Amino acid sequence: MQGEGQAMGQSRVVVIGGGNAGLCSALAALEGGAEVTLLEAAPEPERGGNSGFTAGAMRFAYDGREDIVQLVPDLSEEQLAKTDFGSYSQEQFFDDMARVTQYRCDPDLVDLLVTRSFDTLKWMRDKGVRFLPIYGRQAFQVDGKFTFWGGLTLEANGGGPGLVDSLFAAFESAGGKVFYGHRAIGLTEDGGKVSGVVVRAGGEIRTISADAVVLACGGFQANAEWRTRYLGPGWEFAKVRGTQFDVGDGHRMAMDIGAMSWGNWSGCHAVGWDSNAPAFGDRLVGDGFQKHSYPFGIIVNSRGERFVDEGADFRNYTYAKYGQEVLKQPGQIAWQVFDSKVSHLLRDEYRIRQVTKIVAPTLEELVRRMDGINAEQFLRTVGDYNAAVDQSVPFNPNVKDGRGTSGLAVPKSNWANTLDSPPYEAYAVTCGITFTFGGLKIDTSARVIDVTGEPIPGLYACGEIVGGIFYFNYPGGSGLTAGSVFGRIAGSAASGALDRSAASSVSA
Ligand SMILES: Cc1cc2nc3c(=O)[nH]c(=O)nc-3n(C[C@H](O)[C@H](O)[C@H](O)COP(=O)(O)OP(=O)(O)OC[C@H]3O[C@@H](n4cnc5c(N)ncnc54)[C@H](O)[C@@H]3O)c2cc1C
Repeated sequence: MQGEGQAMGQSRVVVIGGGNAGLCSALAALEGGAEVTLLEAAPEPERGGNSGFTAGAMRFAYDGREDIVQLVPDLSEEQLAKTDFGSYSQEQFFDDMARVTQYRCDPDLVDLLVTRSFDTLKWMRDKGVRFLPIYGRQAFQVDGKFTFWGGLTLEANGGGPGLVDSLFAAFESAGGKVFYGHRAIGLTEDGGKVSGVVVRAGGEIRTISADAVVLACGGFQANAEWRTRYLGPGWEFAKVRGTQFDVGDGHRMAMDIGAMSWGNWSGCHAVGWDSNAPAFGDRLVGDGFQKHSYPFGIIVNSRGERFVDEGADFRNYTYAKYGQEVLKQPGQIAWQVFDSKVSHLLRDEYRIRQVTKIVAPTLEELVRRMDGINAEQFLRTVGDYNAAVDQSVPFNPNVKDGRGTSGLAVPKSNWANTLDSPPYEAYAVTCGITFTFGGLKIDTSARVIDVTGEPIPGLYACGEIVGGIFYFNYPGGSGLTAGSVFGRIAGSAASGALDRSAASSVSA
């Protein structure tokens, strides 16, 4: 299945996993002159991994409008005139990573993530990916101008499906080979070097030889037993937001040959997700089950009590850690509640057909229809909350407006509006897990490090499988960027191109 057409001296790279990280590594390996085979466990109609379920939003550092125009050259004069893109410096990106991970993220890896982010998006554009401003979700209109906030400005055209389709098209048109329904189950070694991949496909097991292997097969979030083992009791009840194929195969294969486990193995990215969503992602709904406008309302559990500061920060910096707060509540259920003063600010995902939503003209009627909730306590909670809102501070969704509550055991720090204008809306959410943070240790060339601290020859990793980048929390849009940046580095290193360019710069 491979080797035919391989040029003399050309290295053979096998990439395991066809999500964003794997495809970027496969493209970089081709660019580096390798013969590249991509193994994908899913059948072709379900290709793309978690990446295919995303909105395609990507965080990157940029200095202002000129940088945006390099990535989106077809913006019209009218669009440019009505948009304030602001800027997002490398320092801000680095600080956001450090802050939300409580200063545990690996500084060398994060430095690469940040400093290579813009250049990597330009490289992806060269490969055929198209980007658009995220007008609907990341900008609010102020005085007739769209103003971006929170460091997240562009998304891939066509969202996650558009992103992976463009990358697959680029890979195949550049001569890469994809084998769907091929699940990697082990790595072979020869003389201390990784020499191939054991694959299960169509009921058969065979070995594919390789000079280098890139592990890009995602986290272990779709494995209920591992979730419970590593994230803790109760995690078997979480719904999986994306693919069912990311079950930790890459972690297991690598650790079987001595790779070091690294990073936040008890941590993950998890969000508020429609309580009636299916067990795994639904390709037609994509990320529509998420419910991310809670900063403008309140969240209560079935005891009728609030349990998080909904306005602690922009949603980009809280959404990934609030899913697990919902998981801790009785029945793993919570309700997001809004009134008509803010309902126009709710993101498009609140208007999908498959939504668990109640609308009522009074709070009493609303709570009567919220299944299983303590109605008396709910009404007390809303009354106390309304009385605690500091209405002297103006409401502004574009900045952390400081319009908070005072005197509540669970404060709300920004965007606090009283709930007093009918109709009222309540949305039932549970915990939706996105991806796990624990993974393998890599170095700055994406080489997998073993338990003695040495690189395992011939083995590279990128994407969700990498540990040490995200801890506790996550700045929205950095997963795809991390996959692209380290995918590009892994592919280039696996093809030998990184070594060649290092050697030529030494001899120059
Ligand atoms: C609903 C949702 C929305 C999201 N939105 C965003 C967003 O807008 N922006 C953002 O930055 N991040 C977002 N994320 C996170 C983002 O999806 C991930 O960070 C990123 O896609 C990970 O890419 P990856 O290539 O590492 O993994 P994946 O895209 O999951 O790819 C892994 C691939 O490996 C394959 N595989 C697994 N095991 C094997 C095996 N043994 N053999 C062969 N193949 C195997 C899988 O089938 C899969 O195709 C979102 C995630 C979800 C679920």
